[in-house]
Order: sequence, then structure tokens, then C-alpha cells
Amino acid sequence: MTRSLIWDEFDLVVFDMDGTLYDQSRLQRHMMAALARDALRRRSLCTIRTLSAFRKQRESMADMPVEDFDAAQYRLPGRAPEQVRMMVADWMERRPLPLLRRYRAAGVGQLFERLARRHVVAIYSDYPPSEKLAALGLSAALTVGANDVGRLKPDPSGLLLLMERAHVAPARTLMIGDRDDRDGEAARRAGVRALIRGRDFRHFDEPIFRHVA
Ligand SMILES: [Mg+2]
Repeated sequence: MTRSLIWDEFDLVVFDMDGTLYDQSRLQRHMMAALARDALRRRSLCTIRTLSAFRKQRESMADMPVEDFDAAQYRLPGRAPEQVRMMVADWMERRPLPLLRRYRAAGVGQLFERLARRHVVAIYSDYPPSEKLAALGLSAALTVGANDVGRLKPDPSGLLLLMERAHVAPARTLMIGDRDDRDGEAARRAGVRALIRGRDFRHFDEPIFRHVA
């Protein structure tokens, strides 16, 4: 666990979205139950299998970047890309929105308010972050999704873009995420310090966050 941090050393604080600002495993359990009910009603496992294949493909694309990422992520064997895109938009983007607020990480609302007084607060996510951020009742000065840069973490392109937009150097940037192999590695490649939820801290109301501005 990281015990203390000198917040004045940073001007830009970049948060990952999924698993960092809300409890992703509880939301996923909720969505899995809804998917199971939908599969029973339709008597088809097509949606569950497609979403599972989509997730696996995204994980492997993160390790091996491809050109034309935005279109390539929806290309799955035996499925029409447009159908995959619609399922992902429906089940992974639209339907979780009204549930997000209930699974928001404890202490994150206050932390965002306090940080915003003296820091640029930004979001860097592998999925489009704006609607989720609003659904969480949070706001950030800057947001970047994988679609904006055509690369998934741990490629650091999104982090580099945020630093460029905020005019802040890597040494004065902090990345806060939940996966060392994605958020932590993107930060290392960009020369940025990182805090990983579950390793360096568990909740946003821990002492490490108490001295923020
Ligand atoms: Mg995450």
C-alpha cells in the first residue's frame, strides 16, 4: 500500500474508468443476470457468446495493436460486424448506464471536487467515457477513449494526448487505474507515475487521498 503522496507534485490527474471509478465486478454480475434472462427469453446464447468473444478479442488487441482498430474490434468470425457493434452498444454501453451510480466507488465524488480546485482532472478509458462519467455524477476537464486514439492500453497514446492537451509534462502527471498490466504499463511507457486500485489503495477515502488540495 502507498501511504502518502505529495499532491502538489502533480498538475494532471488521469483516472481510468472501468473498475476504478465504479465496482466493475458487481456491475458485471448485474449485467450477466440480465443477459441470462434475455437468453432464456430468446432461447439463444448468441448475445452472450458474441459479447464474450468481443471481450476476448479486445484483450488480445491490447497486447497486439492493429491498424484500423475501430472497425477491427467488431470483426468476429461468423458474425456481421454491424450486429456485433449494435450488441456492444446495447449491452456494454447503453444498458449499464442507469446502474453505474449505484456502484460508484466510495469517496470518489468528494475526491473529484477537491482535485478540481488545483489539478486538471482527466479520464482515459478503453471505452467511450463521457456518458459513463455523466451517469456516475462526475465531471472531468478532459476525456479520452481508445476510439479517439485508435489504440488500447497499455499503448500510452491516450495518456500522451491528455498531457499534450493539458500542457502538462509526464513528471507532473499521475495515472490512477485498477490494472497494472494496462493502466500501470501505459503510465510506465509514458514516464508517468501510477496508483493502482487493489495494490496501492482500495478506497478513495483512504489517508493517501486526504491531503488533496
Ligand atoms: Mg479499468
